[in-house]
Amino acid sequence: MKLKDLSVIVASWESRQWDAFVAEYLPAGVLTDAFWSGRPCPCPICGGKDRFTYTRNRDRGDWVCRKCNNGSPGGGDGLELVRRYTNMSYFELKRRLNGINNPVPLDLPNRPVSDRKPLDSAAKMRRIERQWTGAASLTPGDHAMQYLAARVPGLRAPKPQSLRLAVQEYWHEKQLIGKYPTIVAQFTLPDGRMATVHRTTLDRHKPAKATVVTADGEILPNKRNDVSALSPRGGAVRLMPPRDGELGIAEGLETAYAAYMLFGIPTWYSLNRVLLSQFVVPDGLGVHTVHIFADFDEIDVKTGKSPGMADALGLQKRLRSEGFKVVLHRPRVRGTDFCDEWRTAYQLRQLSEQAIAA
Ligand SMILES: [Zn+2]
Repeated sequence: MKLKDLSVIVASWESRQWDAFVAEYLPAGVLTDAFWSGRPCPCPICGGKDRFTYTRNRDRGDWVCRKCNNGSPGGGDGLELVRRYTNMSYFELKRRLNGINNPVPLDLPNRPVSDRKPLDSAAKMRRIERQWTGAASLTPGDHAMQYLAARVPGLRAPKPQSLRLAVQEYWHEKQLIGKYPTIVAQFTLPDGRMATVHRTTLDRHKPAKATVVTADGEILPNKRNDVSALSPRGGAVRLMPPRDGELGIAEGLETAYAAYMLFGIPTWYSLNRVLLSQFVVPDGLGVHTVHIFADFDEIDVKTGKSPGMADALGLQKRLRSEGFKVVLHRPRVRGTDFCDEWRTAYQLRQLSEQAIAA
C-alpha cells in the first residue's frame, strides 16, 4: 500500500488535533499547564527552564525555542516538535500516521484554569485527590443517576465505586463560566494508582450534558480530564468489579454501561480509543477473558479504516499475545456504538411488551 504524505494527512487537522498529536508523543512531564497555555517552559528537546513556548501561532502545533537551532532560536510545527523529540524519521512518522496511531480530537489536554505556576506532579496528585475526596458517592435520583438513566434507559448495574458527583466551578481562561453538577470519574492505572480524574459537566436542570458557553459564544467541552498526575497509558475507569474472570473494556461511560446491559459483562472504560488501544489488564483480579466493546466508527477517509475498530483490533492482538482470551464485539450498524445499540434494543423491548399487554 502506498503511504499518504504527511502534508496530505495533516492538511485538514484543526488546532485541537495538533494538540492531541503533540500530547500523544511528548512525555506527560512536559505537558504542563504552562506548556498548553503558551507560557515559557522547559524545552522538550533541549531542556532549560523557560526557553520554550508552544505558540500555536498558525494552529499547526507551532512552537519556538531560544536555543533549539544549535544554541540559536529555532522552532517549527507540531510534526517537527514530535520528530525532534522522538528522533523518528519522516518516513516513520508517515508510517504511523497512515496507520492506527493518528490523533483523536477527544479528551484533549486541559487548558489552565488560572494563572497559577505550573504544577509539579505532587501538586497535580493533590489536586486530583482533592477533587475526588470533595465529590460524593452517587445516590438514587441525583444528577448523575438521572443523566445515566436518560442515556442508558433501563440501566441496572452495581453502584459504581469509581464515579462520584460534585458541584464544580467551570473556569476558562481565568473566567468563571458557571457552577455545574459534575460527574467525577477516577481514572486508575494497572498498578492501582489514580492518574487523573475525568469530568462530565451536566446541565443543572435536565438530565443531559451541559452546554457550556463563554460570554463571547465559544462552546467549551463538557467532558474533560483534569491534570494528569501520572501518564494515563494503560489505565481505565473501573466501573465495576470483573466477574468470574471476565472483564469488558469500552471507550466511554455510556457505552460501558450499555455493554453491561446488552451482554451482562462487567465493563470498564478507557475515555478514548487511543487509551483503549493501550489498555493493560491489571494483575491480581483473576481476569482471563477480555471483551472489547468497540465503537463502530465511520471510515476515516485519511486512513481508509474505522478508527474505533482499528484500535480495538490492535488491543485484541496485543492482549491475545499476552495470553488472554479476547472477544471483540462490534455494533451491528456502522456509525454506531453500543449505547446506540442498547437504546434500540430497549425501545424494541418496550414495544413488544406493549404489544403483549395490548
Ligand atoms: Zn529547545
